Parts: sequence; C-alpha cells; structure tokens
Amino acid sequence: MLGSQIQPHAGVAHLQGVSKAYGNGENRITALHATDLTVERNELLLIVGPSGSGKTTLLSLLGCVIYPTVGQVFVGGQEASALSEKELAHLRLRQIGFVFQNFNLVQPLTAAENVALPLQLQGVGKAEVNERVAAALELVGMSNRRKNLPKQLSGGQQQRISIARALVTDPPLMLCDEPTASLDHASASVVMNELRSLADRGKAVAVVTHDIRLKPFANRIVYVDEGRVYTEAPTENVYAH
Ligand code: ADP
Ligand code: MG
Repeated sequence: MLGSQIQPHAGVAHLQGVSKAYGNGENRITALHATDLTVERNELLLIVGPSGSGKTTLLSLLGCVIYPTVGQVFVGGQEASALSEKELAHLRLRQIGFVFQNFNLVQPLTAAENVALPLQLQGVGKAEVNERVAAALELVGMSNRRKNLPKQLSGGQQQRISIARALVTDPPLMLCDEPTASLDHASASVVMNELRSLADRGKAVAVVTHDIRLKPFANRIVYVDEGRVYTEAPTENVYAH
C-alpha cells in the first residue's frame, strides 16, 4: 500500500485521485472530480478556468487548507491528507507561501512588519527576522517601501509585499489565487515577472487565474471546467474575454 510514502517523481505537491464535494444531500456539490496533478520545482503552473469551475478548490487542496473528500494529497514528501489540523498548520507554515487577490496585508502594520509575520509565527529570533525581511523586500524590489503602511502603496506594490511575505520563509511551494485580478495591466506584468523569477530560482509556483493574458509566463497550463481538470482547453478560446 502507498501508506504515507511519497511516490517517486511526485514533485513538490501532488494530488492522487483527489476529489472534493461540499454540502450534504440535495445541497451536495462536487466542486472537483477525481484529479491527479503534480506541481514541480522550477515550474510556474497556470490554472485557468471560468468563475465557479473549481480553481480555488483545487488550489486549497494543494495548499492543505481543506481535506479531500476522496484521494491523497502529498506535499514535500509527506501525505498531508493523513495529518491532523494542527500538523497541517505546521506543514503550511514551513512548506507553502500563499498570495491572494486582495493581498490580505494587515493594515496597521508597515510593509516590513507584514513580511515579518510568518517568521515570528515560526519563532525566529529578531536579528534573523530583520535580515530575512530585508532580503525578501529586496527580492521584490520594495526595500525603499519597507516603512510604508499598505494604504500608502499601490495595488501592485501591495501585491509585491504580499509576495515577499509568502517567500520570506523560503517555502518550496507558492500558491497564488487570482494574484493579478485587482491590478492594472502594467502592475500585473510586474507581479507575474516576480512569480516567474521565483519559479526560475527553483520554487514550484501555481497560479490560479481566469485571465489568459498570463499564459506567456507559464511553463504549463491546466484548464478547469465544471470541476474537471484538463491539460488542453476544452474548446478553443473559451476563456477569451
Ligand atoms: P472558482 O475558484 O473557479 O471560482 P471554486 O473552487 O471557488 O471555483 O468553487 C467551485 C464550486 O464549489 C462552486 O460551485 C462553488 O459554489 C462551490 N463551493 C466552493 N466553496 C464552497 C464551500 N465552502 N461550500 C459550498 N460550496 C462551495
Ligand atoms: Mg476562486
């Protein structure tokens, strides 16, 4: 039996026969049908599909935020779907960085203080926190904004801060849900270039979007439609707006 053994070549994150249903009885919805999917080091995987197709569900399963109804989730060599909630929280903190559409920055904290939060949760000492926060801000070109509050920054700048916060713990897996949806085209390009360069430096990056303009940044694209994951678009131009 597979038990909690990671399969060979299973990448940084791997879904094995995973499906997800919400609700019970008449209200039961299968948000994701049985899916096998691997996210590898050095790749930016784009997850494309219309609203309600199951993209966030797919990303939440990869991110160990929800448990599968059926199947197994592996992250960093561990069977995440077999862990307790508490163990999962620990795994997420060490292995996964999250980036969201609305940045989710803590408003009364400065950019640097926001980026420091995950390290403080990990119990990292003050001197090392300062050093790593400075390095993360440098990586996304935001060193000169370290003392600004979120409201003093543009959407694109806030998203770069939230990328710094996601990568400050150096997680192997970065998961991004519609990271450019609140941004103008120029800021979206800057943010996608940041994510692209993280993949080039060895991270596994999965980006959910309904914007096919992001295609040029991807190594690989999967399409989600009515809870099913395809490696090719179901019909040509179905997602073109
Ligand atoms: P997307 O991100 O592509 O818009 P979601 O994964 O959020 O799609 O949703 C897929 C389907 O699952 C939708 O029909 C949605 O209404 C449903 N759904 C998502 N989350 C929940 C939940 N927590 N409870 C019940 N239904 C949900
Ligand atoms: Mg969604």
